[in-house]
Amino acid sequence: MKKIAIIGSGAGGLITSSKLAKDLSKQIRNEEVSITIFDRNLEQEFQPGYLEVAFRGTDPAKIIRRVEGLVSPGVKLVYENVEKVDLADRYLQTEGSKEKYGFDYLIISTGSSPDYKQISGLREDNMDFHTDAYNSNLIYQRISKIKSGRIVVGIAGLPYKCPPSPNESAFMLDEYFRKQGLRDNVEITYITPFTRIYSAESINEVIEPIYEKRSIGSVTAFNTDYVDTDRKEINSMEGETLKYDYLFLTPPHKTASFLKGTEFSDEDGWVKVDRRDLHITSYGDSFAIGDTTNLPISKAGVEAHLEGIVVANNIAAEINGMERKYRFTGRTQCSMETGFHKATFVVGTYDKPVEKIEPSTMNYMEKKVMEKIYWGSLHGHYEWLFKYHFKEDYFQD
Ligand SMILES: Cc1cc2nc3c(=O)[nH]c(=O)nc-3n(C[C@H](O)[C@H](O)[C@H](O)COP(=O)(O)OP(=O)(O)OC[C@H]3O[C@@H](n4cnc5c(N)ncnc54)[C@H](O)[C@@H]3O)c2cc1C
Repeated sequence: MKKIAIIGSGAGGLITSSKLAKDLSKQIRNEEVSITIFDRNLEQEFQPGYLEVAFRGTDPAKIIRRVEGLVSPGVKLVYENVEKVDLADRYLQTEGSKEKYGFDYLIISTGSSPDYKQISGLREDNMDFHTDAYNSNLIYQRISKIKSGRIVVGIAGLPYKCPPSPNESAFMLDEYFRKQGLRDNVEITYITPFTRIYSAESINEVIEPIYEKRSIGSVTAFNTDYVDTDRKEINSMEGETLKYDYLFLTPPHKTASFLKGTEFSDEDGWVKVDRRDLHITSYGDSFAIGDTTNLPISKAGVEAHLEGIVVANNIAAEINGMERKYRFTGRTQCSMETGFHKATFVVGTYDKPVEKIEPSTMNYMEKKVMEKIYWGSLHGHYEWLFKYHFKEDYFQD
């Protein structure tokens, strides 16, 4: 019996399990292979939907699903928090348990989450759309009460997931207050540690004029040091101070705590992987995908998905007696909503720089289609569409 363990039932973990369950269905029926997902949560949330919940008042229940309805037949679920992984002896342990779960293959897809410990004072006043649907819903309740004031939005620290999301929040706040007829009463300022409004020059060229047209201010090369909640000030490491009434900052993110201090992760706990086949450096049968890797690419669901497909293909090939030949191209594709039913996309690979794509209603519609098919895509229902859309970036073989 080959035992495959997956930690995390999010965007990366679920598609990996679905693809493996499909390719190894015969072996699962014959009890030659088992697939088990470990996750502490009974529910999954469609994280890109946090923006809609926070800035358009979408019902948070609409972006939440129970995990048991998302896994493919033959995949086992263990609702526990993983506390320890031993790659050399191939076992993991869950919180408070002495039992060792052995595995032949391991896939770590434990994501990333806001780390408020890094910036003093940030948690107290921040309206956070990177944690969960509940917090995002609180934002909508709070912005509904704002009639005037200074809004500061942007990036409080690196890394964080979904690179365009802070810009999207600036555009969505602008749209919200324009629709309320209150835009002249609120000042919106975007802050970023980068030296331009968007880190990739091609996208910056596209969105900078929109910032100007919509009168959204910006302060670049601003590395947030701490927030003084009594004085309502954000202080940068460069010595600048900004006044605010309302804060919508994206905090720096952290990895799962059990990964910190392991020999297979870097000093911040991000897992060191091969950028092409995602195996954990020096452990050929263990892999990490999605936000939790140390790859210098976007932390985004698209990456988690394409990486999961590569890893699942290689494991299934090996179990079926073939060679592991599938490779990830580093492809990213994150949508960036620019407000009023328009969007652009951040598209690039390891070898191709980010493209310049003008915002359009067509792009916005494509984003909406992705939202509609999200849950089904975790089951692997739309792999034909992914293959068609991503072409040579679906995987290399
Ligand atoms: C506001 C916002 C907008 C976004 N927009 C986009 C977008 O437009 N396009 C895009 O591609 N991506 C977008 N993303 C990013 C995307 O949601 C994530 O990058 C993606 O979910 C990462 O997948 P993952 O599998 O790595 O982690 P996740 O989907 O976060 O799943 C990680 C899972 O691991 C579990 N876990 C963690 N630690 C443990 C442990 N110790 N034991 C057991 N289980 C554990 C968690 O409970 C969780 O279920 C957005 C994110 C946000 C917040």
